Amino acid sequence: MQKRTLGKTGWKISVIGFGAIKLPRVSQRDCDVLLNRAVDLGINFIDTADCYGDSEEKIGSALSKRRREFYLSTKIDERDGPGVMKKLERSLQRLKTDWIDLVLFHDVRGSEYEKIFEKGGLEALEKARRQGKISEIGISIHHSVSMMKKAIESGVFSALMVAYSPIDEDRLTLDLIPLAQQKGVGVIAMKPLAGGKLGESRRGWNRKYFKGESPAQVSLRYILTNPHLTCAIPGMTNLNELEENLKVGEDFRHLSSEEIGVLMDWVGEVGKGFCRNCGYCLPCPEGISIPDIFRFESYHESYGMKRWAAEQYRLLPVKADACSSCGQCLERCPFGVSIPQCLQEAHRILGLS
Ligand code: SF4
Ligand code: SF4
Repeated sequence: MQKRTLGKTGWKISVIGFGAIKLPRVSQRDCDVLLNRAVDLGINFIDTADCYGDSEEKIGSALSKRRREFYLSTKIDERDGPGVMKKLERSLQRLKTDWIDLVLFHDVRGSEYEKIFEKGGLEALEKARRQGKISEIGISIHHSVSMMKKAIESGVFSALMVAYSPIDEDRLTLDLIPLAQQKGVGVIAMKPLAGGKLGESRRGWNRKYFKGESPAQVSLRYILTNPHLTCAIPGMTNLNELEENLKVGEDFRHLSSEEIGVLMDWVGEVGKGFCRNCGYCLPCPEGISIPDIFRFESYHESYGMKRWAAEQYRLLPVKADACSSCGQCLERCPFGVSIPQCLQEAHRILGLS
């Protein structure tokens, strides 16, 4: 398994990490097999979050006896000192470990970035680091490139987790990822298969051209063709997915520009009408946070995080039903998302209609 260095931490991380977001759908017995197999085959980075259902407990039960064989990463969605400490203690307990290698502030949005500094969240993690409960502090940001830049330049974070897949509009490779590299911040690609969309769809896929490789494998190669990315963390639920993803890291080769072109043509077709969370549709005159709502819907539908997604939606100050169908967002969305209709559907799914 090829490894790359995670920024200034110096850790050698397997280029394919284990995304544990989908473990709530997998039985403990199957998790035991899957996670042990992943570690046996060379995956040494496992990422979860306190809000991923019982994912932390399942990792703890499956791997607590092998704790020194992998780097463990979790994410906390609190921003204030007491909240962060409470969640950290709970994560340590659920993961059955005395220390967590990387703890990230999860899914930071809008004014929450400042709150990390002002409300004691960062101070709490720095204290936990001095106490040996955690080793490094990171941050995950979904769509604000300006916030990602601020986080990199702050010098505070060792790792930045970003949504990065061939389907995402590529806003990061030109400046942001090289800047992270220069500042010693490791970049980890979450949602590398767009929540499973690129793993599931085979419609129009030219398997022969890609020498038998699947869309998921070629998509992971595409991500890792960027040398400044440390690793990709696809969500996995079974041994077939694990072995398919692992092959990319075991036998890594860069995609040629011609292969990237063929992949992008395919992605353009399967990704029609799919929200990339880019935020170009904003601002909405009614104050609707369009990308956040579509993201919560995808957590609800694709990752089985129904309760968490509905709660996040409940906390939004403006809900999708405030849409007046003015059409301004439609003119700005480059990906043909039928925003007003999709918002109605999201509102229904997220449980408020
Ligand atoms: S609706 Fe369109 S513009 Fe808005 S975040 Fe999604 S893909 Fe981007
Ligand atoms: S159509 Fe709806 S979501 Fe789009 S900008 Fe207008 S009010 Fe906002």
